[in-house]
This record gives sequence, C-alpha cells and structure tokens, in this order.
Amino acid sequence: MKSFNLDKMNTELRDSLAHYRMGTKLDSIDLNSFLGLELKIHFKKEINCTHCATLIKKAYAGGYCYPCSIKLAECDMCILKPELCHYANGTCRQPSWGEANCMIPHYIYLANSSGLKVGITRGTQVPTRWIDQGAVAALPILKVSTRYQSGVFEKLFASEVKDKTDWRKMLKGNIEELDLEEKRDELFELFGESIDRMEGDFGAGEIEILERGLVTSINYPVLEYPEKVSSLSLDKHEVVGGTLLGIKGQYLIFNTGVINIRSHTGYKIELEF
Ligand SMILES: [Zn+2]
Repeated sequence: MKSFNLDKMNTELRDSLAHYRMGTKLDSIDLNSFLGLELKIHFKKEINCTHCATLIKKAYAGGYCYPCSIKLAECDMCILKPELCHYANGTCRQPSWGEANCMIPHYIYLANSSGLKVGITRGTQVPTRWIDQGAVAALPILKVSTRYQSGVFEKLFASEVKDKTDWRKMLKGNIEELDLEEKRDELFELFGESIDRMEGDFGAGEIEILERGLVTSINYPVLEYPEKVSSLSLDKHEVVGGTLLGIKGQYLIFNTGVINIRSHTGYKIELEF
C-alpha cells in the first residue's frame, strides 16, 4: 500500500522499451514489474493543486486550483497552441518560466501513435513526449529556436498530417507500420517553398532542417491489448484496477478497462498491490 497524489507517470526508454514509474520523486514504484499482477487505485476523495497543494474540489487546466490556472504561464492557452506564444509581445504570464521553457530549442517531429501525426516538443522532452503519446515510432524533422517557431511549423504541416492521437485506436495496439523517413521527404517536398520562406522570416541559424534524423522505435510493456476500450475514471469509481495487462501512453490497461493517469493529476490515492 502506498499513498500519494497522482501525477503524470514517469517514463524512461531503455533498449527500446518504455519503463514507467508512479509515486513521488523520492518514493516511486516500478510499474513494469506489476504486469500480470493485481493493482488497485483507491481514490481518497481529495484533490490537491499540483502546483501549490491547496485542497480543491475540482481541478482546472489538468491538475491546478483555479487561481494557479489563471496565473501560471504553464496553464496559458499558448501551451496548447504554441503558435499563440506571446512572449515576444512582453505579455508572458511569467517571463522567467517562458525563458526556461519556451525560448529554448524545440523539435517538430513525425510520430506513429494511432497513425501518422505531427507534433512539437522541447528538446529536453525527447523521448518522454513520444512515450506519453503512446507513439511506436518517432522522427524529428526540424529543430527550431523557440516554442513559437515550432507552433508555426506544426500548424503548417497540420494541413496535411493530423496533429492529434486517436487514443482508443492507440490503446488497441496493432498499429500499422509507417515509413516516417518517406513521410518526412514527402512533407519537405510539399512544403519546400513555405519552409524556405519561414527560414527567411525567422532569420539565419534559427532553423535546422533535419534531413537525416534518426527514427526512435518504442515498445510498450503490454501483455494484452483490449478488444474494446472502456475508460475508467476516479470521478465515477472510488476504486479502479484489476489485473494490470499493460501500460501505454499515460494509460494503465487493466482487465476491467483503461485509466488515463495524467488526467487525474492531483488526485490523492492509495495504491494497493
Ligand atoms: Zn494552486
């Protein structure tokens, strides 16, 4: 039995296999070792803001109290839509946070999660971001200097390639293999002029076109994929769990259904094993 507030599962890629941990920074358990075993999550009917720990009735912006959700830069709309980054206008909610997290190199990548998708990530979040999305393969195609620039490119490519994952499909497994290098070459061909123009707009040295990036393959600890994906929530069930059949993205796959751990950020639980 362990008691803690849920947070995004911690991930690591070792020998092409995603490894997951859950708990606190100082005291966490290796979830991969629970595959095939019984695991139960008991909701203690308490939610704490993931930033300031205040007891709250309802979480905003994925785990925050209302005041934090309107005050913190990490809860601003531009985090979901990077092309709206307004740091350059001098209106960032927390300029120092923006400097540390947005005014740093970002990658635009192609991934295969539930099919082809385009996405962006901070350089420091590779390959975590890909594991969080349940991608089975990912390929960085551009390196840019800021979050804003990455958002502009993502939007450009999104007219041709999806920028979202169908999580139900992702959790069913059997993802058809894709040649990401071929897809990259097609995109470069299709958007060559726009990329050149944007390179000119952003200035010399701001953008690096990764013509020979490396594909990262990711395997997940899964014994069995569900035939029908039924979603479990601690808002509806006080106890969630059963036999742990797998972990993919930020989901635990039980014989009783799947639960998105990230969407329960801040929920106080007791883990029974
Ligand atoms: Zn708060």
